[in-house]
Amino acid sequence: GPGLVAQAPPPAAKEAPVDCIFCRIVAGKAPSKKVYEDQYVLAFWDIRPRAKVHLLVIPKQHVASLKELDELPVETRAALLSACVRVAKDQGILDKGFRVITNAGKDASQSVFHLHFHVVGGEQLREDAI
Ligand code: IMP
Repeated sequence: GPGLVAQAPPPAAKEAPVDCIFCRIVAGKAPSKKVYEDQYVLAFWDIRPRAKVHLLVIPKQHVASLKELDELPVETRAALLSACVRVAKDQGILDKGFRVITNAGKDASQSVFHLHFHVVGGEQLREDAI
């Protein structure tokens, strides 16, 4: 109202876009079937599993894809790959084999623009596809 001093606009929400579904999962504002979490990463079931085991491992900090990997702290980069192995082990698929995939950009048909690694296994995977 009158007498109120104009406030500076809030900083752009660059770190956690409100419209990013995986940021919403990290924030607890959207549901997920979590299998692992630490200070750097979160792992949960893919909503549309394409194998007996199909998990997603994501950084809690938003970056769009592997293309932006260097924007993440080195601890987060290490935690991402370690978490892929850890969740595979926890699902009992470490010894029989598993696959880790990340789609980056249009040619890879990336559909969610928050970096994620698919951890897939629990059955014989085709050699020419996920
Ligand atoms: P991309 O095609 O590599 O970007 O993979 C995106 C993946 O996210 C797909 O396998 C989707 O099934 C999955 N996905 C999309 N929304 C959700 C969700 O809300 N929870 C869990 N997985 C999701």
